[in-house]
Amino acid sequence: MEPEVKLLDENKRRLDGRAVDELRPIKIEAGVLNRADGSAYLEWGGNKVLAAVYGPREAHPRHRQDPARALVQCRYNMAAFSVSDRKRPGPDRRSVEISKVVSEALGHVVFKEQFPRTSVDVFIEVLQAEAGTRCAGLTAAAVAMADAGIPMRDLVVSCAAGKADGTLLLDLGKEEDNLGEADLPVAIVPRTGEIVLLQMDGHLTPEELEKSLKSAIDACHKIYEIQKDALRRRYAVTAEHEDTPPPPEAPKPEEVEAPEPVVPETQEGE
Ligand code: UDP
Repeated sequence: MEPEVKLLDENKRRLDGRAVDELRPIKIEAGVLNRADGSAYLEWGGNKVLAAVYGPREAHPRHRQDPARALVQCRYNMAAFSVSDRKRPGPDRRSVEISKVVSEALGHVVFKEQFPRTSVDVFIEVLQAEAGTRCAGLTAAAVAMADAGIPMRDLVVSCAAGKADGTLLLDLGKEEDNLGEADLPVAIVPRTGEIVLLQMDGHLTPEELEKSLKSAIDACHKIYEIQKDALRRRYAVTAEHEDTPPPPEAPKPEEVEAPEPVVPETQEGE
């Protein structure tokens, strides 16, 4: 059946003008919240996401503490104003699912054994949503965890690929996600290549799955550079402040030279 909205034009350009293998623009800023141990703000196309991290701190409630390792607990939340139809506030099945898969993905890189009985608490607030918010939230949360100084093997980075209008596409936009045939969010640990999140909504043939997976992983490596750049900028600012020399000490009174008396010039005719 022909979709009502044409998702690709005759030149295989997408509704927002992107090529089939092109990412939406991504911007990340680390250390945006003063009260959290670590934080990050991310814009990814029309998605706007804040991530805040606390810990490792004593896990509560106490019966959930693990005597052998830290817990990594994430809460993903979409603001009521993040989508065009107001989203009912509070947790729903979708946000519980996303919180779980994101917690597990981030948990893979944390040196949890070093912090028994503690919890690393990760909060993801989606302020504006336009498809791919779990990937955006996870990517922002990894930067916030590094900003908090949580000991980690590497960052985690996430991107989706999928299929719409019979064509494989990277990083689905809103209409492509809603009207398309498949969505495949992926997250990896870039240094080792481990896949720490893999979900699929819809149908792909085995060949399409392989191609989509490769395309999402390649994109993850590009996004990894943006994450690292955000962290470098954050530390560069801190280092700049540390390098600023202290202001010179005020001279002692006896060292102060008496100023030359100012003799007013006599004006002609006086
Ligand atoms: N969405 C929405 N209302 C909701 C949940 C989702 O409008 O209650 C939109 C939102 O733009 C989201 C998109 O549908 O990004 C796709 O949601 P999905 O469950 O596929 O997760 P995501 O792609 O955001 O990870």
